[in-house]
Amino acid sequence: MTNLPLAAPDITDRERELVLQVLSTPMLSGGPMLQRFEGMAAKAAGRRHAIAVSSGTAGLHVIVRALGLGVGNAVITTPYSFIASSNCLLYEGVEPVFVDVEADTFNIDPDQVQKALRSAGPNRGRIKGILAVDIFGHPARWDRLEAIAHEHGLKLIEDSAESLGSSFQGRPCGSFGDAAIFAFYPNKQVTTGEGGVVLTDSEGLAELCRSLRNQGRGPSNEWLEHVRLGYNYRLSELHAALGVAQMERLAELLAKRARVAAWYDDGLGDISYLTPPARQSDVEVRWFVYVVRFKNPLHRPVAMEWLQEKGIPTRPYFPALHLMPFYREQFGFKPGDFPVTEAVASSTLALPYHNNMTHEQVQYVCDQLRALTEALP
Ligand SMILES: *Cc1c(COP(=O)(O)O)cnc(C)c1O
Repeated sequence: MTNLPLAAPDITDRERELVLQVLSTPMLSGGPMLQRFEGMAAKAAGRRHAIAVSSGTAGLHVIVRALGLGVGNAVITTPYSFIASSNCLLYEGVEPVFVDVEADTFNIDPDQVQKALRSAGPNRGRIKGILAVDIFGHPARWDRLEAIAHEHGLKLIEDSAESLGSSFQGRPCGSFGDAAIFAFYPNKQVTTGEGGVVLTDSEGLAELCRSLRNQGRGPSNEWLEHVRLGYNYRLSELHAALGVAQMERLAELLAKRARVAAWYDDGLGDISYLTPPARQSDVEVRWFVYVVRFKNPLHRPVAMEWLQEKGIPTRPYFPALHLMPFYREQFGFKPGDFPVTEAVASSTLALPYHNNMTHEQVQYVCDQLRALTEALP
């Protein structure tokens, strides 16, 4: 058994059929598929509005801009994430105020958020929002984040790029805060090739995001009338068609993902040097990636090489954002600033994980990890 992919999209004839359908029409952008796709995304998140965009990153950018965050403002966010959740602040000159994460879920720690607000001193007035991420698909503590945002009059943004299909206390991910996003890169729960969607219940915010996605055009949608600085963040009909076919299969896609995760949970249970992904009792998780943690970080590179020799690719998800060179340079971050994040970032590893992995393939990965136990220093 060799050359397992780390991730893989789950594409059927239905996806091919809908994309081809679009190709036989003259409408390759801004047509009926976009509206269908947006309706399906809104429903999945339990939101009133969905605005499809060209990537998850573009979605985060228009949210930050539509909320009026800009130069002189700061937003509290997590340093353990994919870089887009923090770059979207930098695009608008907003300062990221990183706070440390929970050691078990790797999500932003609400206690640390409160501490950052209490100790901000004269900087308190600059902090205008909280941007939290449902890391790897595990929901953040939305009950506490909502309470903190409400108490302090802060905007709240949910980066649910990794958590389509997950829920927190019975509420779907994508439904929290002023606005949220899903992302549709090929390794996500649902893909459009490239794509994303903004989710919100606010009519005003939705209208602004629609305008920003479409070159700043106003509600009349006159082609050459631009009422503000906007972008071309549109999602084509071809991408939307792919998304419609995937969303039609959402229950199936999520069930397949859950099945593979359960095989891993079983297969890794007795491997003593690893911690499988943690789940809080009041959440439902559909993993984006299946990430294990090494109790001793020195074991991680040994395991990566061992697995690579057996045809099993892995990736150290995620490195700490505050230690990226341009963040260090611009904001003066240094090692030791966020100890939990740094410990987690040095010891987590994503294993091969996709919908069509077989039980045998999962067992093969688990067997190779078990065999390594003897060889570890
Ligand atoms: C994938 C991802 C994004 C951005 O998605 P793109 O579609 O690749 O731009 C944003 N935030 C997180 C946490 C992600 O995992």
